[in-house]
Amino acid sequence: MPVRSASRNPKQTFALIALLFALLLAAIFYLWQALLAAEQTQAQARLQLEANSLAAQIEGRFQQQTGTLIRLAERWDVQRESPHLWQADADRLLRDFHNFQAIEWLDSSYRMRWIQPLAGNEAVINFVYHPDHPNYPVLVKAQNTGKPHLSSPFKLVQGGQGLAYYVPLYKIEDGERTFDGFLLGIFRVEVLLSDLLRDLQANRLSIELEERGQTLINRPTSDQVANSWRVSSPVVLGENHNFVLVVHPTRHLLDTATTHLPLMIMLSGSLAALLLCYSLWLAIQGARRNAILKNTNRQLQAEVVRRQSTEESLKNNQARLKLIIDMTDHSHDALFIIGLEPQELVYINRTCWQSLGYSEAQLRQLATIAPKDIMPEAGTWLKAVKNLIHNQGDAIFQQHVVDANGRITPLEISARHLRRLGRDYLICVGRNNSEQLEIAERLQRLSNQDGLTGLYNRRYFDKTLLSEWRRLRRENTPLGLLMLDVDHFKRFNDLLGHQAGDDALQRLANAMSSCLMREGDCVCRYGGEEFAVILPGADLPQCMQVARRIHEAVELMALAHPDTSIDSGLLSVSIGAASLQPMPEWSPHDLIKQADAALYRAKAEGRNRTCEAETGEDAAN
Ligand code: GH3
Ligand code: MG
Ligand code: MG
Repeated sequence: MPVRSASRNPKQTFALIALLFALLLAAIFYLWQALLAAEQTQAQARLQLEANSLAAQIEGRFQQQTGTLIRLAERWDVQRESPHLWQADADRLLRDFHNFQAIEWLDSSYRMRWIQPLAGNEAVINFVYHPDHPNYPVLVKAQNTGKPHLSSPFKLVQGGQGLAYYVPLYKIEDGERTFDGFLLGIFRVEVLLSDLLRDLQANRLSIELEERGQTLINRPTSDQVANSWRVSSPVVLGENHNFVLVVHPTRHLLDTATTHLPLMIMLSGSLAALLLCYSLWLAIQGARRNAILKNTNRQLQAEVVRRQSTEESLKNNQARLKLIIDMTDHSHDALFIIGLEPQELVYINRTCWQSLGYSEAQLRQLATIAPKDIMPEAGTWLKAVKNLIHNQGDAIFQQHVVDANGRITPLEISARHLRRLGRDYLICVGRNNSEQLEIAERLQRLSNQDGLTGLYNRRYFDKTLLSEWRRLRRENTPLGLLMLDVDHFKRFNDLLGHQAGDDALQRLANAMSSCLMREGDCVCRYGGEEFAVILPGADLPQCMQVARRIHEAVELMALAHPDTSIDSGLLSVSIGAASLQPMPEWSPHDLIKQADAALYRAKAEGRNRTCEAETGEDAAN
């Protein structure tokens, strides 16, 4: 229940408690009203008893008043015969009971015969009640029943309201009792009723006497409760059932008949309801706070567990990271990570700084303030690497690094671009590949070298001649070429054997190589026992100079030729020399053709000599 209440929102809870409070108030109000009604019923019952008692007292007093008249009527037989006696009795009665206005005798024909006192009542002498008189039915009823009857109020001839009390009279004639009219007592309403009600208000009741709904007399008290309930009790006066005594409640009665209990119950009930609802509200708030506290505790515990596991995994990660860093530090490769924009050396492993002879701090500082001191082409390299970002690829770069002692080491850098958390990074692995480079260079050299003589081979010749041709064409400089062929070498081989031929070729190669002075000059084995010398920048005279030196060197070798028919008796070479200013319309092939033609002529002219290419032997031929 508290959990469910706590789960409601405070407004809903407040509304429910307010509703409960309203219901409790309504119940208390209902109880209050019921108690008030019960008290009123009790007061009414009490007042009813009072009213009944008063009615009985009024009836008793009336009987007392009229009893004398009845006793007078009982003596009618005597008095009928002696009016003076009747007058004397009537006078005594009038004297003793001031309520009577007059005492009268109405004969059997309803005619007024005697009146006492007569003075002031002369007008009614011989007055006859006719059927249209309002009191006529009363007379008939009294006569028929033989019981005295009181009339309703009527207008007195003497003025004012009066009541007539008719007592039937009987006479004995011939031993028979016959109706002889009425002894009639006239009361003034005011006077009679005032007398009847006299002293009845000792208990301060507010009373009223009505006859057929008409108020005859009203005796209100000062503390009568106006417009409230009232009780009534019938009052029978002289067989007249039309009188009603009405009693109004008074403040005094209500004060004594009612208590403060309903009010107290209402007030204490309201207070209790308020306290109950407030306690309920507090309890729900407490439950809500407890639930929130529990929830917060649960969250905190979960957070603690989460943090513990995070710390655990952090520790693990840190240990793993340490292990990884340790391993990368022991790697032969230099590993470094560069962050871009802003450019920053994020990570370097130990190999980076140890292999270069720096401390980590020194290397980091140098990389920041003078990267070229570590890597001479750092600027261009970084530009090239940044292009990776656009190409999104890996790339391998060949760079050189300078160590703390100024030693230059080749470094092959494998770089990869990565983007993490909105920033670009370059992950680079550097490896000293000097050995591979040397092997590659050796392979390269071998691929360009002639196996027998150690000179450049034909492949190298073709490549170099073309590249030099293009270079010198841009520089507007001539390119010289010597084409050489060993004279009578077939005979040399035939007579001395192939091995001797090979040896001779090797020696010739050395001799020729020793004749080259300028950088860029190179001698190649063109094929078999033919050689070619590339002389970049050499014009024809300069080519001839080199050719001359070659002849001298070969001659100096003094390698005997076995064929005795040869004049010199030594192994010699014939040379064709050519030099061309490379033109767009010509090709290296034209230069070769010129030199070849000159060689052909040298052979034809007797060998062991050099012929210059002639003007006619140009590219056009
Ligand atoms: P010429 O003066 O007209 O050039 O006469 P020649 O005998 O030299 O004629 P040619 O140039 O036609 O002969 C080339 C000979 O060179 C053929 C071959 O026996 C020899 N020769 C070619 N290559 C080699 C080689 O690698 N080793 C050896 N031992 N001999 C070779
Ligand atoms: Mg040849
Ligand atoms: Mg030859």
